[in-house]
Amino acid sequence: MADGINGLTKVCGIFGDPVRHSLSPAMHNAAFAAAGLDYIYVPFQVAGDKLPDAIKALRALDLAGVNITIPHKETVLPYLDEISMEAGFIGAVNTVVNRQGRLCGENTDGRGFIKALSEQVGFNPAGKTALVLGAGGAARAVAVQLALAGSAKLLLTNRSRPRAEELARLIAEKTGAAAAVAEWPAQVLPHRDSRMIANADLVVQATPVGMYPHTAETVPFPFELLKQDAVVCDLVYNPARTDFLKKAAHFGAVTVNGLGMLLYQGALAFELWTGSPAPVSVMKDALLKALSPATVNE
Ligand code: NAP
Repeated sequence: MADGINGLTKVCGIFGDPVRHSLSPAMHNAAFAAAGLDYIYVPFQVAGDKLPDAIKALRALDLAGVNITIPHKETVLPYLDEISMEAGFIGAVNTVVNRQGRLCGENTDGRGFIKALSEQVGFNPAGKTALVLGAGGAARAVAVQLALAGSAKLLLTNRSRPRAEELARLIAEKTGAAAAVAEWPAQVLPHRDSRMIANADLVVQATPVGMYPHTAETVPFPFELLKQDAVVCDLVYNPARTDFLKKAAHFGAVTVNGLGMLLYQGALAFELWTGSPAPVSVMKDALLKALSPATVNE
């Protein structure tokens, strides 16, 4: 916000339930202030059955745009006027942009993930093999975007195998990329799966296992099979170094946590709403400040 709220201030926000602990208001308000833009970002608690009313309000109040979070990322699609290719493939929207009254649904999670890997460790997925653990919303965004970014092969594994199979089918059908399903790592791995893990250039941990306060938990994974210098990313960002990342680092992996994805999905949303470049370092500082120092510094 430039000089306080006034009649011209543009309003962005987040629709979700719960939203009380969202880090996005701190990140976006710091960004608007740093960029000198007359915008504010407000968290809106929107219960499951209130989404249609909230979208009507978005139109009536002419909000500039909103982020969409749990539980609305999938159910919001029918209420929007346009859906981007990525959001359509992923089947979920995390950002709505109000373009002169037309509500456009975007998904910046997957692109934010790819950007974070590129900025933080110089990883480009084109031609690479990637293993994704999990098949929920975050895994879907990451896997679809990896396929769109030219990954040579995707290997998917999930505690409930049918969800991984469904995701593999979706990727093959929508993007044409090669996608296979491996046994969930807790089980004894067949040779074929061990070989695929050993060939993976990138491993993405996309389940909530290990997230604060359950920091002692780790997805069972054969870390000893990791390729030397494989990039291992845990989408969890609190704590900053999960047990999964510590174990992967022990076996020589280059490790990345989920903060970069959170940051860059926000930076991309900021750019969609304002048309201005996102002040990424300001946004990162705001995120770090909003997270508990005790856990971030672990
Ligand atoms: P979700 O849609 O609820 O999916 C959860 C996934 O984790 C499912 O595949 C689920 O397997 C699996 N899972 C849950 N508990 C498990 C357990 N105890 N053992 C093994 N697998 C388990 O959640 P999501 O939205 O994808 O979020 C997943 C994680 O990513 C969360 O930690 C979230 O904070 C993080 N995330 C980070 C960012 C970021 O910007 N860094 C963005 C989005 C999400 P089943 O199918 O078997 O239930």
